[in-house]
Amino acid sequence: MITIFLDKCTGCTLCVKSCPFGAIRMAEKKAVIDMTICTLCGACVETCKFAAIELKKGTDRGNDLSGYKDVWVFCEQKKGAVQSISFELLGEGKKLAEKLGVKLCAVILGSAIEPAVEKLSERGADKIYIVDHLTLKFYQDDPYTEVLVKLAQEYKPEVILCGATTIGRSLVSRVAVRIGAGLTADCTGLDIDKGERLLLQTRPAFGGNIMATIITPNHRPQMATVRHKVMKEACINKAHKAEVIRKSYPEDVMKSRTRLIDVIEEIEETMNLAEADIVVSGGRGLGGPENFAMIREFAKVLNAAVGASRAAVDSDWIPYSHQVGQTGKTVCPKLYIACGISGQIQHLIGMQSAKIIVAINKDPDAPIFKVATYGIVGDVFDIVPALTREFKRALKR
Ligand SMILES: Cc1cc2nc3c(=O)[nH]c(=O)nc-3n(C[C@H](O)[C@H](O)[C@H](O)COP(=O)(O)OP(=O)(O)OC[C@H]3O[C@@H](n4cnc5c(N)ncnc54)[C@H](O)[C@@H]3O)c2cc1C
Repeated sequence: MITIFLDKCTGCTLCVKSCPFGAIRMAEKKAVIDMTICTLCGACVETCKFAAIELKKGTDRGNDLSGYKDVWVFCEQKKGAVQSISFELLGEGKKLAEKLGVKLCAVILGSAIEPAVEKLSERGADKIYIVDHLTLKFYQDDPYTEVLVKLAQEYKPEVILCGATTIGRSLVSRVAVRIGAGLTADCTGLDIDKGERLLLQTRPAFGGNIMATIITPNHRPQMATVRHKVMKEACINKAHKAEVIRKSYPEDVMKSRTRLIDVIEEIEETMNLAEADIVVSGGRGLGGPENFAMIREFAKVLNAAVGASRAAVDSDWIPYSHQVGQTGKTVCPKLYIACGISGQIQHLIGMQSAKIIVAINKDPDAPIFKVATYGIVGDVFDIVPALTREFKRALKR
């Protein structure tokens, strides 16, 4: 809640100038805040020399933060199989739950998903909320949103984490709006401020040039989507048993404004990029779309996935689904081979946690060499065919 003490306000207009959102105006020489614009950032409080503005955190807009507890992980499933992003979130969620002294809860929606209970339990979930209904077999915006909103309103989680996947991004943004919570998209780091019980949500900002840590002090739950392959998967403990809460909802909750006609799976020519142990990526240094054939052949020999820089994707040399980086996929393979890629920060964000990075570039000063485990200064058109030949021979492929 933000208050202006009119007896202290001198009408100096310093607060008007300090507000980055233009939410303050003067009326009869006194400051007036437009609460439809104010974000409670506190800039005016710091500027006011007369202590005429007070900001009380945690009680704004009547949002009572008490009664919210537990860390929830929305777990994605495909044909009943829990997706690996969910195990990554359970691993990270456990650390957060321990710091907050609350339970780690998994939430899973689907149809015939009972086998998922064991998988989530052995990955450390203390509680599992499961909603099993034929309509929830495949992801659909309306029923998934409606069910997650109902669960969150009933059980009041303190934190909700979700994968920054196509499904996750679509779902939790809708849920956040419905329950009046904030949402930080695409986090690459999470932590807890124990004193304030705040989720510290870190993500790249300003084109990846800085890392911003975002907090949600005034609303609950605190919601974040997290990038795939950034967090470590929770370890398996077969002995761990979770409490299971099975919920069912009336048919009107399952209503959808869209009709699902069919689900068509993308047929991958090579390995799935996000899951691959080895990724061979090509950039602008390849000079044209035809030269990706050389990268594909190298990848085939290594049983690797094919990645690309945005420059290659933007030039229409390869589809977007292959793009690695800030606005593409995050990969965390054992081996990442960058061919003709300069290594701009936006590309590095998507691959720098690879265990071994090999960079092939003809410019010895290319930034990619700063993160590379092994650097080969040379022409990709000499190096890549030579490596392909040698690996073919050594691996007998
Ligand atoms: C908001 C934002 C988001 C972005 N998101 C992404 C993203 O997700 N992923 C991404 O990749 N980029 C992203 N970018 C773009 C990024 O900033 C770079 O422009 C891009 O990564 C450059 O791609 P590149 O390294 O292939 O091309 P360049 O920077 O042009 O580098 C080409 C390299 O190839 C080398 N080379 C040329 N010929 C040869 C040869 N014959 N043999 C060997 N080496 C050769 C050159 O020395 C050079 O180092 C983003 C940018 C912005 C602003």
